[in-house]
Amino acid sequence: MDCFDGSPGQFRNFKKDDFEADWIKVAECRFGQVYRAKLKLWREICALKCFDTTLNASNFYRRILEENSTIAKVKFKYIVSIYGLCHEASAMVMEYMSNGSLNNLLASHNLMWPKKFQMIHEASMGMNFLHSMKPPLLHFNLKTSNILLDDHLHVKISDFGLIHWEKGMNKKLLMEYLTARGNISYIPPETFTQCPDPPGTSFDVYSFGIVMWEILTQQKAYAGCSVTTVLLQVSQGKRPCMEIIPEKKPHECEPMINLMEQCWDQDNRNRPQFSEIVRQTEALSEILKIPGPMQCPKNNDEGQKSFALMISPIHKIKMPDLPSDDENGKEGFISLLKKK
Ligand code: ATP
Ligand code: MG
Repeated sequence: MDCFDGSPGQFRNFKKDDFEADWIKVAECRFGQVYRAKLKLWREICALKCFDTTLNASNFYRRILEENSTIAKVKFKYIVSIYGLCHEASAMVMEYMSNGSLNNLLASHNLMWPKKFQMIHEASMGMNFLHSMKPPLLHFNLKTSNILLDDHLHVKISDFGLIHWEKGMNKKLLMEYLTARGNISYIPPETFTQCPDPPGTSFDVYSFGIVMWEILTQQKAYAGCSVTTVLLQVSQGKRPCMEIIPEKKPHECEPMINLMEQCWDQDNRNRPQFSEIVRQTEALSEILKIPGPMQCPKNNDEGQKSFALMISPIHKIKMPDLPSDDENGKEGFISLLKKK
């Protein structure tokens, strides 16, 4: 470990040798890999997000170096902590989130309503923190794979600050970055239409609306549709289908759905700020609070654990009948989306 780094507000620079030798690959992505490794000095398991420097992922690594002092200051309960960098591996060294991403959890487990509400609220807490920084730290890459889960299935926002909007930057470039990462569903329409305004906080609010839908429905928005189809439909004001939200739902779902619709409003000026969103999600998750351990059923250990966590494994993953994106599938696509 470099002793001269790591002063408050600066990243430490770790050496490869600061970690025990057995790095375990957690995920392989288009732009690099994520490893789990133990830091010898702290005896702490960390995650290393390694950027493939031969691809345009190197832009993201460069960005962390440039924004070192801002990103290093971000410390909050609902944000994944970044411990430093490992230049030797072109990696960002961060808190290891033992339960992986929300994206994976939504596909593998049924979540009970109170848990869904709690996760929405915790994610809004994290985003509100980033936007309350001066100037606001815009995420631009908010999606369920960047919402990670700790040992107790509480959520934290990850991979913030890697994409930066600079004055004079071309929106086409931002679109290219994001579509290359498979983020098309989370991009607000004004990014790919003629709107001259630079993207601001309302960009992340839109992405959050899509995240809310994915949590409430446990489906992927616009699954099976091509990029072109999504761009076209979204620019015309269409959004993911509401009928997918189960009919048997608590009353509190209605205000949560209203909030989600405000977040993805076509006109970015009508979208609420996170300071307002977080107040609403707080009130709603408070009403639908997760029962304490005293109220858990006591039939067996597994049942008690599932109840306490408010999740249960999906044994047979049920996929909706998704339309293909050809001429014949167009009819089906429309029914997947709801016109506002
Ligand atoms: P992007 O690069 O746009 O953020 P992504 O989120 O799909 O795309 P990665 O950030 O490389 O790709 O993450 C891939 C997967 O690695 C995540 O979905 C998650 O399962 C795992 N992962 C990432 N960071 C951590 C972490 N800090 N702790 C544990 N697992 C992690
Ligand atoms: Mg990520």
